[in-house]
Amino acid sequence: MAEMADLAELPPNRAKFEERLLAITTKKAGNAKYLSEEKYLEVIKEVKGALEKEGKGLIKKERDRLKKYAAKTMGAEEYLVKHGDHKNYFVNNERMYDALLEVHLQVSHGGKNRMLPIIRKKYSNVSQEATFLFLSLCGIYLAKKKPKKRGIVVKPLVFEEMNQRCQVD
Ligand SMILES: [Zn+2]
Repeated sequence: MAEMADLAELPPNRAKFEERLLAITTKKAGNAKYLSEEKYLEVIKEVKGALEKEGKGLIKKERDRLKKYAAKTMGAEEYLVKHGDHKNYFVNNERMYDALLEVHLQVSHGGKNRMLPIIRKKYSNVSQEATFLFLSLCGIYLAKKKPKKRGIVVKPLVFEEMNQRCQVD
């Protein structure tokens, strides 16, 4: 029984998720929804550098960065947040899995309808696409989602009756 319980807690495979996410992000290179860890840190640095100029001599890229982003310190770490919305924050691709897993377990392996409202409250860039990918890798979620085959179950008595009639005929 203990072993079964452990299996039931098995989360989606991280390596598979990251492999498929990489395929998506490679195809969509330059899409601001997906930031590698390196890019994430780079943008934070650019935002802070632009802020230090206090509005003097900003180049277009810096103005664009400030229009779109801000940096926020939470605990020991710095996060990229949307300009004017410091409640939500961006996660880099390397942390996407953890963000999704946390929400997914919070709703007991629930689906997108339960996950997305929580995700949208907390994160700026955890996409529906990434959520679907994550769900497609959770066996527990998929098993719950499978339609029950109630309609297909045939009562054996009816069959017997039919067989008898056929023989008589
Ligand atoms: Zn699950």
